[in-house]
Amino acid sequence: MRTGGFGRGKGGETPPLRGMTGAVIRPLRRLLAAGRLIAVLLVLGGLGGALLILAFLSGALSAAAAPGPAPPHPQLVDASRAPATARILKQVALDYAPQMSQPARDQDFRAKVALAKRLLGVGRLVSLRQQSLALLYGRGEVSWEDLRLLRWPGGEQVGVTLSVPVWAPARARRVPTYCGFEKRWQAVAQAQPRPSGFVWFSPSIADINNTAQYRPERIQFEVNSRFAPLAAVFLEYIFREGWYDQAKRVPLMELRAGEDTYAASAYSGPITAECLSFPDDEGDSLAARVALCHYNSLADIYHGRHAVTSNHRLGLAMDLNDFNYAGVTDGPPNPISRAVRQFNRDAMHKLDARHLPAWVYRAAKEPGFRIPQEWTYFGYHTDWAHFDVGTK
Ligand SMILES: [Zn+2]
Repeated sequence: MRTGGFGRGKGGETPPLRGMTGAVIRPLRRLLAAGRLIAVLLVLGGLGGALLILAFLSGALSAAAAPGPAPPHPQLVDASRAPATARILKQVALDYAPQMSQPARDQDFRAKVALAKRLLGVGRLVSLRQQSLALLYGRGEVSWEDLRLLRWPGGEQVGVTLSVPVWAPARARRVPTYCGFEKRWQAVAQAQPRPSGFVWFSPSIADINNTAQYRPERIQFEVNSRFAPLAAVFLEYIFREGWYDQAKRVPLMELRAGEDTYAASAYSGPITAECLSFPDDEGDSLAARVALCHYNSLADIYHGRHAVTSNHRLGLAMDLNDFNYAGVTDGPPNPISRAVRQFNRDAMHKLDARHLPAWVYRAAKEPGFRIPQEWTYFGYHTDWAHFDVGTK
């Protein structure tokens, strides 16, 4: 089954977005133009000419510090499955005005969230869960594999593949993922029932924390078409913050949304990866050591299976940077942690940039997502970066 164009399959890395070269080339051209001006002005001579040169050069230099042209917005990989959703995505795309301030960016985000909800006709997000369950009524165990092929009244297919801009560490490589209706993730890793998108892998903590060297990339995942515009605005906001402010770059390397059971391939070959391990598994201690971990394949790190009641099975939930590094404590970011330190979001983000900083959780409340602080898991105060529409 096709998940479509954006570099699906075994191909190489995605080329960097066009915007980056523009940011470098345009100021260069201006400097060259300034050079020609200097020659003319030298002939004319005089103090006025020299002042003009200085003014022109400082203009060219300040342009170099500004972000380049806007990168591509979130989009459907195959817009023909859900043309109305594709139109909404265009309408709620975020602005990339020059020198956009933090208040201006937040105002734009709030306006686009409100517009998305109005165009979708959605009030409380939990109504999306009720509508999806109604569509599936009488089909047995709730499964994304069934729901994704159904259509909403009006003809939009429920399951769509969304492609969104993300920051990736300099040497991160793309990892295709697979989905299926299986009891064990190992079955998906081995049989690879169907492709479902791709994530990113980087073996080095130094690389993961080197935000200056990040490159703009894309990530692909399946999601409910009635949820896609809200997911898109939230994820584009996370990306756009890093576009204007390097200190706010968050690498989104793993993103899981609509699926029952998923995994990367069991045939990627053995891998070695650095990750942090925290000896204190319940408290707030940030003391960690770097562990060098060895795994049979990327499937060991990228896998999972969602409970029958999970909103993932309805394409109405997202896990951001949810990895499975076995053999270490909480690390990192651990999909399920009992440690109090997990809630020290900014400190954890500093240790490993894949931990989401506090402002990401604040932004998630704008569309009304349920965030992990708001619920408990099997009676524990566990925590992982799961955002969804809630259940009641
Ligand atoms: Zn989740």
